[in-house]
Amino acid sequence: MSADLPQHRELVTAIPGPRSIELMERKTAAVAQGVGTTMPVFAAEAGGGIVKDIDGNSLIDFGSGIAVTSIGNSAPRVVEAVRAQVEAFTHTCFMVTPYEGYVAVAEALNAITPGDHLKRSVLFNSGAEAVENAVKIARAYTKKDAVVAFDHAYHGRTNLTMALTAKNMPYKDGFGPFAPEVYRAPMSYPYRDDKAMDGEQAAARAIDQIEKQVGASNLAALVIEPIQGEGGFVVPAPGFLPALVEWCTANNVVFIADEVQTGFARTGALFACEHEDVVPDLIVTAKGIAGGLPLAAVTGRAEMVDAPHAGGLGGTYGGNPLACAAALATLETIRAENLIERAQDIGTLMLDRLHRLQADDSRIGDVRGRGAMIAVELVKKGTTDPDPDLTKAVATAAHQQGLIVLTCGTYGNVLRFLPPLAISDELLTEGLDLLAETLAATGRS
Ligand SMILES: *Cc1c(COP(=O)(O)O)cnc(C)c1O
Repeated sequence: MSADLPQHRELVTAIPGPRSIELMERKTAAVAQGVGTTMPVFAAEAGGGIVKDIDGNSLIDFGSGIAVTSIGNSAPRVVEAVRAQVEAFTHTCFMVTPYEGYVAVAEALNAITPGDHLKRSVLFNSGAEAVENAVKIARAYTKKDAVVAFDHAYHGRTNLTMALTAKNMPYKDGFGPFAPEVYRAPMSYPYRDDKAMDGEQAAARAIDQIEKQVGASNLAALVIEPIQGEGGFVVPAPGFLPALVEWCTANNVVFIADEVQTGFARTGALFACEHEDVVPDLIVTAKGIAGGLPLAAVTGRAEMVDAPHAGGLGGTYGGNPLACAAALATLETIRAENLIERAQDIGTLMLDRLHRLQADDSRIGDVRGRGAMIAVELVKKGTTDPDPDLTKAVATAAHQQGLIVLTCGTYGNVLRFLPPLAISDELLTEGLDLLAETLAATGRS
């Protein structure tokens, strides 16, 4: 049982071990090469802060399956709720014969997302699918076409969300033509912006470009991650998001917050918008919503979400009953285990340690993030020039020590940490020790 998985790192073979090497050969022969692998070990079970591989190695999890298993893998309430649901029924299609779980998830999302206005929700299978549907809703509501996304943005891998995503490799290269009427605006990126630029000035820069190049009268929606994920855990300067919301409201532009990665307690608030009292018109959620089961949602102002005609939104599996049961159990777990406060404490512990590391290692250009969504941006010693080679080397060395860590960033030079909120302080500290040792041992001249 994963719930009883011992919470200790233990390496019993090299990484990868012989069984993972064998399975990787089968993967290469059977699975599309386009599906990459961060760490060449195959999972056997997982829980708390540990992923155990098929060779018996217990790895410290600083990834949560990309911010998904925030409440822990196979969290007990999720296991129990899904088991009960799977025995009752697995699928009827909500559009054919509906069921209570979907309605209960919609009610919960309407209640817990920012803002006390009247809301509606609609459920989907993936973050990208939900982002696409948020854009459909904004277009139906405003009767306008254009959509603005930001530099360093990541919104998914479908055609429209590829267009919204900023980075060419690996997400877009060779996969065009992309959806039309998507425009890009400059992000607030405090580490790389002019030091004198505050959030309001960064917003003014973006708005000026949008007005000149698109025009508010053509613009249906602005889509933004309140803290960027794949783009490098970029936290915009304070004031940036509120100024954008204000401009959207004044110009009949729908403000869509993509909280797919930042949602469900990850950043030390239920949603990252709350850190700046931002109330989005539409909020897109997925990843951490259902303890590992595939579910996504668009929640927002009733008059907007109700704009599309009946039959215009939906999908065969959207709001699958197992995923809905898991989502309700996930919310209950966040509440019962005080995981919002836990995320804040994880953030304090990580930021403190990483700032101390940064103090005597000028290759750590920036330490940033909120709660359990923390990153370091690595640069060439004494400069701000990105160092993707160092980043890759540190990540690979950490993997060999049994620490699951991910990289990200437009320049590929960001190590990102997304531990499950169920991780112990001991594992968290051990993971940070491993990182410190790995950094010290890697390419320091
Ligand atoms: C992961 C992610 C998506 C895409 O979600 P999928 O479930 O992979 O389709 C969209 N937006 C953000 C911010 C993400 O992190």
